Order: sequence, then structure tokens, then C-alpha cells
Amino acid sequence: MYKCDLCRERLHEGEKPFCIEACPKQAMKIGKREDIFKEAGELKQQYNGDIYGMNENGGTSTVYVSAVSFADLDKALVEKQNNKSVVRLNKPENLLEKQKNWAMLSIAAPVLGALAALGLSGNSGNRSEEGGES
Ligand code: SF4
Repeated sequence: MYKCDLCRERLHEGEKPFCIEACPKQAMKIGKREDIFKEAGELKQQYNGDIYGMNENGGTSTVYVSAVSFADLDKALVEKQNNKSVVRLNKPENLLEKQKNWAMLSIAAPVLGALAALGLSGNSGNRSEEGGES
């Protein structure tokens, strides 16, 4: 089993990956993130199309430009698969964001608990000073 490594050795040699070099339609491009995103934006304008991968899942290293919106492509895929959601082009839930929120919560909870306890002990201290409970 071989996993794509973007033809790392060729990149080190200043060459393009094989698939990009071999593609007769020049349908793929590789480059600096900002340059690729800029070109993707221009192509989106040119085709009055859509981009997938810039924001999905917190942003990916591969972006796709289509003259047809990815929402329409997703709808067609779902219909073609009789609503079985095998391949989807929808905006996936950003699990990283969800995990980040849980992480923040797990940090905040004990702090809030301690503050609440301090607050409660501060209140009971005030009441005893006012000669409430002994
Ligand atoms: S030829 Fe393309 S798909 Fe294959 S390893 Fe190179 S970059 Fe990846």
C-alpha cells in the first residue's frame, strides 16, 4: 500500500509530482498556499463557480474549484446514492472546533467551581461577621 506523499523526492529536486506533470488537462497545480488560494479565487470568479477545501474541516491543503456549486454536487451525489450518505461534499462538522470547545470547557469548569466555592465561602464569612449564624 502506498500513500501519496506529493512525490516528495521530485519536489525536493524542484520537479512537479508525476500526476501533475502527466495530466493532459493541467487540471492540478501545486504551489505555495497563498498562491494556490489566490488562483483558486480567480478561477472561481472566472467560472462563477465554487471552491471546496479552503474552510471545510478547518481548511485543507487541497482545494477544488468547480463551475457547479459543491452543494449542488453534494445533492446530486446523495440522490444518486438513494440518500445513502457514502460520499459527501457538504460542509463537514468541524470536529476540531468541537474538541476545542470541549477542551476549553474542561479547563473552565474547575476554575469556575473554585471561584464559586470561594464566593460561597466569602458569603458565609460575611454572614458570620454580621452575627448571623455562629
Ligand atoms: S503521482 Fe500524484 S498521487 Fe502519486 S504520489 Fe505523486 S503526487 Fe501523489
